[in-house]
Amino acid sequence: MSSDLDKNQAEVSGILAKVQREPLPHFIDGSRDNGRTGRVFENHTPIDNSVIGEVAEGGEEDIDAACRAANDAFKLWRETSGNERKVILHKVADAIEDNAREIALVESYDSGQALRFMSKAAIRGAANFRFFADMAPSAYDGQSLPADQHLNYSLRQPIGPVGVITPWNTPFMLSTWKIAPALAAGCTVVQKPAEWSPLSAMMLAEIAHDAGLPKGVLNCVQGYGETAGKALTEHPLIKAVAFVGESTTGSHIMRQGADTLKRVHFELGGKNPVIVFDDADLERALDAVVFMIYSLNGERCTSSSRLLIQESIREEFIDRLAQRVGNLEVGHPLDPNTEIGPLIHDRHFKKVCSYFTKAKEDGATIAAGGEAVEGPGNYVQPTLLSNATNDMRIAREEIFGPVLTAISFSNEVDALSIANDSDYGLAAYLWTKDVGRSHRFAKQLDAGMIWVNSENNRHLPAPFGGMKASGIGRDGGDYSFEFYMETKNVCIALDTHKVPQLGVR
Ligand code: NAD
Repeated sequence: MSSDLDKNQAEVSGILAKVQREPLPHFIDGSRDNGRTGRVFENHTPIDNSVIGEVAEGGEEDIDAACRAANDAFKLWRETSGNERKVILHKVADAIEDNAREIALVESYDSGQALRFMSKAAIRGAANFRFFADMAPSAYDGQSLPADQHLNYSLRQPIGPVGVITPWNTPFMLSTWKIAPALAAGCTVVQKPAEWSPLSAMMLAEIAHDAGLPKGVLNCVQGYGETAGKALTEHPLIKAVAFVGESTTGSHIMRQGADTLKRVHFELGGKNPVIVFDDADLERALDAVVFMIYSLNGERCTSSSRLLIQESIREEFIDRLAQRVGNLEVGHPLDPNTEIGPLIHDRHFKKVCSYFTKAKEDGATIAAGGEAVEGPGNYVQPTLLSNATNDMRIAREEIFGPVLTAISFSNEVDALSIANDSDYGLAAYLWTKDVGRSHRFAKQLDAGMIWVNSENNRHLPAPFGGMKASGIGRDGGDYSFEFYMETKNVCIALDTHKVPQLGVR
């Protein structure tokens, strides 16, 4: 055991003593709130599946209290000037930075994601707040659209209190990606974090409140999706739901929100191809292929989980890849050397392991890994499945673990057809030095985000989101404001046009 790991573990215990109450409460209207159901659930660490503590199990009454608080706060927050919102949101960013180490340690312990990645994710959370803070002063701006005899101009206003429902993979960063633009737009928020990783949402709510966010502007209700989450999506005071999670849950939410005509924004699953041609810079491609499936435990919506490799370089590339996969450091997530930590939950661990069997049943080759690591904890070997075809379950279903499925192709037409033959359409990665080919693929790939000769590099103003079963809507820059705001058009006559006359005799 490294001394850094000892130190980090001791630090986590100290932080949990501050954050974890029995039970971990909700945060409603500016205060910790133990809830109204009297029920709790246990939160486990995937490191050894021991209990971290109990969490208040939110129900309809808790959601209602949070939605009312958000609705009351909306009246004030929407009138708070853009410049003031900017100042407050920058203070939240400062406070996240001040607490970044604590957030990263807790997140790592709670979710099993390696600390090396969670440290960056916490800092990125602050960057999300800063980026949208700077956009707050212009959020209400519209366009001037003059016509011959009328002047049209548009205005924007925040849609109202919104629900934010988040998953367990990188929960803190993902929450800020939704919450920061909503607050910058003048909306208030009720968040329902994932039940498997409840801690960092509570930290965010408290940090933001202590940094100066007025009470009721950001509320957090813990609980299960089928109860607390459902109640949030059905609540009449909530005008829109921003959801990140599985595609099937997105369908449920759409149904649940139908009666109250909720606006929805969905960031869902993926089975993203990384296409490697024989003319690519293979060293860089290899690094990127490894990074984009084995970082964050492969529990990443944009992971490149399908490797499409050109036949001419297949053997050599797969050999080198298998070697790299074998070298990956699986271990305790708080150990700074760890590259792959334990999977979030025993149920998810079993799901990921089931694909080792499915791969063999369907006729693929296990080129590396392919087994669970002996417990305690939800550790699996990073796995490479080769000789796969695109009709196998390992090529069609989102495994959401450190498991890469490799499929070979002969030419461009073949590669494009395999890449697009998927229910999902979130991201695609292309490795080639042929400029024309990269443009042809960019045009024809059915994916919301395409990276050419790069791993996932994010630019915050750029649109983020997916097609097909991967989502509805885009985030990033002004795209986020489009979701959290209503656009109004004002049309003013220059008094030069003829008003139609009826009933004039
Ligand atoms: P999930 O859909 O099971 O849960 C996500 C959230 O939805 C949780 O908070 C859960 O409690 C809640 N929920 C569940 N049922 C609900 C219901 N009926 N009504 C309201 N809320 C409900 O997803 P998960 O397993 O937590 O996360 C993994 C999934 O998230 C993967 O599919 C992954 O690809 C996806 N994801 C997508 C993106 C993206 O940007 N596209 C980013 C991260 C994760």
